[in-house]
Amino acid sequence: MQLKQSIYFHSPIFLQNILTTIYGRVLYQERYGPVYQKRLQELKEKERFQTNAQAEQLARLNQFLLFCQTYSPYYQELFEQHRITLPLETLDELKQIPILSKEILRTRNADVHAKIRAPILGKTGGTTGKSIQVHYTKEDMQIRMAHLDYFKWTHGIERGMRRASFTGQTLAAESQKAPVYWRMNKAINQMLFTIKNINPQTAALYIEQLNRFNPESIDGLPSGMIEVARHAKKYNIPCTFRPKAIFPTAEMMTAAERQLIEEVFHAPIFDQYASSEGAPIVAECRYGKKHLHYEMGIIEVEEDGQILVTSFDTHGTPLVRYRVGDRMTLSEATCQCGHAGPVIASIDGRGRSFIQLKDGHRIFEGELAGIVRAFPNCIERVQYIQSDKEEIVMLYVPDERCFKEEHEKELYFVLKRLFGGQMEVLLRAVPEIPKEISGKTLLIKQLLLEKS
Ligand SMILES: [Zn+2]
Repeated sequence: MQLKQSIYFHSPIFLQNILTTIYGRVLYQERYGPVYQKRLQELKEKERFQTNAQAEQLARLNQFLLFCQTYSPYYQELFEQHRITLPLETLDELKQIPILSKEILRTRNADVHAKIRAPILGKTGGTTGKSIQVHYTKEDMQIRMAHLDYFKWTHGIERGMRRASFTGQTLAAESQKAPVYWRMNKAINQMLFTIKNINPQTAALYIEQLNRFNPESIDGLPSGMIEVARHAKKYNIPCTFRPKAIFPTAEMMTAAERQLIEEVFHAPIFDQYASSEGAPIVAECRYGKKHLHYEMGIIEVEEDGQILVTSFDTHGTPLVRYRVGDRMTLSEATCQCGHAGPVIASIDGRGRSFIQLKDGHRIFEGELAGIVRAFPNCIERVQYIQSDKEEIVMLYVPDERCFKEEHEKELYFVLKRLFGGQMEVLLRAVPEIPKEISGKTLLIKQLLLEKS
């Protein structure tokens, strides 16, 4: 969109809708081509057969490793050094290949890249701004889209159905006077709602527009959904739309937030994990279990809970045993839905979302998100900021109708205890949690220098 941005923002809204649709058509061709069609069909047909997930993974792994050896100077050298002979005979032999750390991917970026055309650039990086370039081929993208659409299809959603998406993109120019914070992408019948303009003054307008559009599915950034749902509930504004399913992306939600969205938007949430760095997709089935889409790759879990991803559809920047920075717990459970992929018990933390204690201990999102539950309804949102080894700043948005002074004291004691008395805690009441440039609202803002 970059090149066209100056034209877009100088156009009237009706023209912006047309430009959105034109851009949507360009993406359509890129994303829903023959490779997409073929994979989606395969996945749908597979439901009727018993499949041997491990045999299929091994075959796909060998094909991918051979590609890495042929086209990426980094892997060529690495396999030679460590005497890796292809094809591997078992999945276990994958452990012979050394781990790819972020540091290696950053410093040897050009060597890791495969010598093929991979025009799609993945956005990665995180809060410190040290971004890492990851490239994809068009085919890689189509495979990802096929798996995402297959996931939605298992929950009754097909492409072309009315879709509302909460996006971090800026859609309204700063000079725009009309309170219209959504644009229509007719190419796939999708209404985009920018989360950058959601605030207590505009939230009711978002609800009105959702009611008018009556989406069959809702997806995108949950922080936007949470703000709108909370506003509807607080002021008793009816949501008359009745989607079949809601698919949040990219951020963690607390159990309470999930419940809130499901209640106010009248539909079940099905969660997914798909990092922008190209990890294979993990998605919830109709029984609420999280399955690895094993056709896309392999996830190993290290002792400390960090995951290593090997992602078969990263032909631009091949990822083999990449320590992506996220954490999961695997499960031995099987699931009655019949999906052959391994079950993931939980996704425990994404990236740098943790508080670092002085003794080296880390406290992850899951634990922190639970704290506010002890203060029913009188705290709307919180954010933990760590920019110092000794001190945590907690911003919170009190519900002015029921928040009392003693709540702040209680909060202080609960946090002191959680941090084992190692950290100073500063509490600050704010009217809103500031948004990031991306439009997201973070639960934890980790500003200490990245070490790994
Ligand atoms: Zn299942």
